[in-house]
Parts: sequence; structure tokens; C-alpha cells
Amino acid sequence: MSNLALQNTNSGPGNAKKRVSYFYHSEVGHHYYGPAHPMKPHRLKLAHHLILSYGLYQKMECYRPHLASANEMTAFHSEDYISFLSRITPDNLRNFSTQMSKFNAGEFTDCPVFDNLYEFTQIYTGCSIDAAIKLNNDASDIAINWSGGLHHAKKSEASGFCYVNDIVLAILELLKVHSRVLYIDIDIHHGDGVEEAFYCTDRVMTASFHKYGDFFPGTGGLKDTGAREGAGYSVNCPLNGGMTDDAYEQVFKPVMNKIMEVFKPGAVVLQCGADSLTGDRLGCFNLSLKGHAECVRHMKSFNVPLLLLGGGGYTIRNVARCWAYETSVALNAEISNDIPYNDYFEYFSPCFKLHLTPAPQENLNTDDTISAVRTEILQQLQNLQGAPSVQFQDVPPPFMTKQEEGGNDGGIGDDVRPTHTVGGEVGSSAKEHESEMMVD
Ligand SMILES: [Zn+2]
Repeated sequence: MSNLALQNTNSGPGNAKKRVSYFYHSEVGHHYYGPAHPMKPHRLKLAHHLILSYGLYQKMECYRPHLASANEMTAFHSEDYISFLSRITPDNLRNFSTQMSKFNAGEFTDCPVFDNLYEFTQIYTGCSIDAAIKLNNDASDIAINWSGGLHHAKKSEASGFCYVNDIVLAILELLKVHSRVLYIDIDIHHGDGVEEAFYCTDRVMTASFHKYGDFFPGTGGLKDTGAREGAGYSVNCPLNGGMTDDAYEQVFKPVMNKIMEVFKPGAVVLQCGADSLTGDRLGCFNLSLKGHAECVRHMKSFNVPLLLLGGGGYTIRNVARCWAYETSVALNAEISNDIPYNDYFEYFSPCFKLHLTPAPQENLNTDDTISAVRTEILQQLQNLQGAPSVQFQDVPPPFMTKQEEGGNDGGIGDDVRPTHTVGGEVGSSAKEHESEMMVD
């Protein structure tokens, strides 16, 4: 851990105890993309059981989510796309060949049609929306959904293992209460779906730190900074392979400090994709758990409502390690480096330790490349500060929902929001936002 990281531990007002809520559905880990597919929802079960075995559930409120409805999903997605997702199955896909090609799903894509695909999207999306509502009601300081963070999904298209963009939907929920929402993405891949959804608005700033150059999805260049009302409000930090904890911190902290200073978000959404860790099956960064979690620790220190989401992560034992550790960071709880016995203990063989040792791998990010990227982004943010476009708009009243303490079955009757708020008009802010969502 670097000196900066040590200084940030157990000191300052940012480390005051936080009210944390945790959203998990026991069925989410049973969905299966197929034997050759790198995305394994089973990793969510590993993470959950590790969190349980460390006793962390005792320190936070745990909730089972409602299943997101089609009506909720079409707050962002097109109706024909959601209708397609809700109807297609492995048994009937022959009838949908035109639509599969149009919506980028099925055999020849990285987004296969598998059993109960739609239910899978309903679960992870319901978790993210419920988590956003919990923050909106000021019932929590930090809300966690490790099953969410599917940042590549587009308005009318599946992409990069993602079908429904729970992040965009959670941000739309947060915008009902907050004038400005900050989205941060530390997955190794560019957060393209979220950036695209909010590219033309100044109410959502997106900041993505990702491998750039000959790497999926190919977007996220330094000069892609937003358009129209959103000019300057998309931040892209293109990075090279071999990224270390120290180099990451040297760009992440100065950029985030400046963003918090100039943008002053009412809520922060942090996508914690674990494919930026050392040893990931698809990634090529070299971050330890401590380096990755330092982003959580740092954003938590600003005392702004924080939504923590999952994302990528393809070496599943390390994904579980990462999200269990980051849950402990959210809680300010010290946890042992010895993995406690749990249902999936053998996955952590041979060392049975929590923390990861970076690989002996060259860091292709030099002091010069890091410094150049940081300087350019800080200049972009400085220009924003001089511009008159950061507006303090009237905020609609909070959406009041019943305070439930788990125990519901996730059925349709468990949507605790009043019906008039679900997918309907939410006052002037929603209309305004609709026109800002320049997708297509
Ligand atoms: Zn990723």
C-alpha cells in the first residue's frame, strides 16, 4: 500500500461510520452463459458466501431486491429491445434471427441467449434500482449491488456480456432527487454504455479509467469529452497494460479530487469491475485488491451518497476476494487475510489468503504517460470550472418509499414504490432528461 493510502486509512471525517445496505438475490448466481463463456454469474455466489463467512452481513442491512419490470427498463431501453429480451429463450430463438442480429444477441455474439436470461436482467437491475432508492431516501450512506455494473449495454443493443444497463437506470433514479450525479468506472474496459447515455447532459459526469488501444470496446479516447450541454462532462482516462497500484493512484486521486471540487455531485456511482485486478482471465492490469479498493476508500471519504456496483471480473476467485474486501472497506471493518471456511473454500486454494500479490509484469504506463493523461484531464476540468454551465437547478422532492427490511420474495407485489413513480413522468426533471438522453 502506498503512503497516500496509509494516510487515508482511519483518519479524517471520511472514515466516520457509514450506514451500508447490501442488495443480493440468491438466484442470481444460478444463471449460466454457457461453458465456453468467460462471464460466470457463479462468481456472485462466491462473493456473497465470502461476505457471509467474514460476518460482514451483521454490520449492514441486507435486502432481497424486487425484480425490475419492463416498464422500469424502458426508462432507458427501447420497448422493442426489452420485449425481445423478455420473450427469447434457447428453445425459440430460431424465430428471432432478424431481431437477434439487430439487437446483437445470440450465437455469433458475445451476448448469448441462455435459460432465464430475462429473469437474470430483472434481478441485477432490480438490485441497482432498489439501491438507488435507498440512497434517495437517505436511508443509507452506501448501497452495494455486486451483481450490477453491466456498463456496456446500449439503448437497443446488448454488448460485451451486458443486456440491460442497470447503471443508467440507477442513475436515472438518482437524478429524481439529485441535480448532479457522478459516475466512475474502474473496470478495465471503457464504460461506453453509460457514457453514451449521458454524453449530451451536464447533469451526469462520467469518468472511466480503462485500457485503451486494441482492446474492447475501442472507445474512450482522451479527447472524447462530451457534446452539446454535456461538453466537458465525459472524462476518459486511457491507460496501458501492466497498470500498478501506485501508477493508478497517481491518476485516479488527482482526477477525482478535481471532479469533486468542480462538479459537486449529489450522489456518486462507482462501478468496481474486478477485471482490472492482477491475474484476470481477460484483463491485463496488475492491481492488487488494496490498489483497487483504494478507489472505494477514496470516494467514500467525500461523504456523498455512494452506490457501489460490480462489473467485469473473469478470474472468479479473485472477483469474490475483491468484492468481499471492498464490502469491508465500505463498512470500515478490518477482516483477516486468512479466508474463513465457507461453502466455496476450495476455490481459494492453494493459499487460502484474501490478498493478491501483483505479478512480475512490466508496467507499460510510465511516469510520462501517466503525467500526460493527468495533465490533459485536469485542464479539461479546469476549463469546466471557468464555464457557467454548472447550474444549480431546483430539485424535485425525494421519492418516498416504504422502508422494508428484507423478507419479500421479489415478486411483482414487492415493488414498494407507488405506482405513479414507476416508469412514469417524474416532474420536469424527467422530461428534461429524456431529451438529453441522446442515444441513436
Ligand atoms: Zn470489463
